[in-house]
Amino acid sequence: MTMVRKIQPPLALMAELTHRCPLQCPYCSNPLELLKVDRERDTAFWLGVIDEAAELGVLQIHFSGGEPTLRQDLARLIEHATSRGLYANLITSAVLLDGAKLQALAQAGLAHVQISFQGAEAETADRIGHYKNGHAKKIDVARLVTKLGMSLTVNAVVHRQNLAELPAMIDLAVALDADRLEVAHVQYHGWALRNRAALMPERAAFEAADAVVEARRRELLGRMAIDYVVPDYYARAPKTCMGGWGQKFLNVAPDGRVLPCHAAETIPGLAFERAGDRPLRDIWFGGAAFEAFRGTAWMQEPCASCALKDVDFGGCRCQALALAGDVAATDPVCHLSPLHDSVLAMAERESVAGVKEFVYRRL
Ligand code: SF4
Ligand code: SF4
Repeated sequence: MTMVRKIQPPLALMAELTHRCPLQCPYCSNPLELLKVDRERDTAFWLGVIDEAAELGVLQIHFSGGEPTLRQDLARLIEHATSRGLYANLITSAVLLDGAKLQALAQAGLAHVQISFQGAEAETADRIGHYKNGHAKKIDVARLVTKLGMSLTVNAVVHRQNLAELPAMIDLAVALDADRLEVAHVQYHGWALRNRAALMPERAAFEAADAVVEARRRELLGRMAIDYVVPDYYARAPKTCMGGWGQKFLNVAPDGRVLPCHAAETIPGLAFERAGDRPLRDIWFGGAAFEAFRGTAWMQEPCASCALKDVDFGGCRCQALALAGDVAATDPVCHLSPLHDSVLAMAERESVAGVKEFVYRRL
């Protein structure tokens, strides 16, 4: 039986202010075709998006990129968001921040900062991010974040080339007094899909990482929360991608296109509307791209008759397209997908093939 679900306003809006970034992470979730600065929208555009988001009922705004601190108007946007009652979070590599800049953002109302770390050792992290002395800079900025009274999340993206440093990454987050640590295995979209063979962990290493996270979660209960995003290809069940397509999140790209998730532009044939051309409310509640995979009516078998279809919504549409060649297929990481075993075998092959070199993200 299909549940009739009333569409609620989105909980959060991801404002991708720019695709520019000084780092070049080989797993960056930005698209392969990065937008140059002349495609970015101006301050007035983003102020309008914030107004419309607040009116729509959005509760949180995540300022992201690329590297959002490259935007000169960031403090102005944060100030406007908080004045409209939105909880403002900054998702940053942190390497361009210093005490004065951070203080200005805090004064503008920034409540939360999420800093990405590419490893626990400077040599590993700087190689992965392709940015010299970035790791040391991140540590300095993370300390300033908590000193200024803002909440800190350490984001640790893990993969074959840094998974051995996971215990030390957890120690680092504790030492930085983070409120939350997000350990996220690479999700294979965008640049990560391009670099999959260099990133895919061996199954045994993934299982060891699982055990480490579980043990440290118990040990750190009440002190630091650990969120854990498993590597899809080794899972039996898919993630409820974005809390369901068009159910909780919306993403505004640097050029103003409104997307159900940051990777959705890899799906051809979806008409993504631009904020400003039509009210954000109308795009959310009735835009063709949001309607395309909302709910369960679009599903094929085995999802269509599965008891979990209202729970995981068939997994990730971008992954279904990338692995099955069919955007409406069951996410092939699901054990009920006819492609599950071949995807798992491919992951295991790639994990031991010895590819080490990265194709770094670049404009
Ligand atoms: S993943 Fe790396 S390259 Fe991509 S935006 Fe974040 S810091 Fe920049
Ligand atoms: S068959 Fe579809 S709905 Fe059922 S568990 Fe797999 S992905 Fe989820």
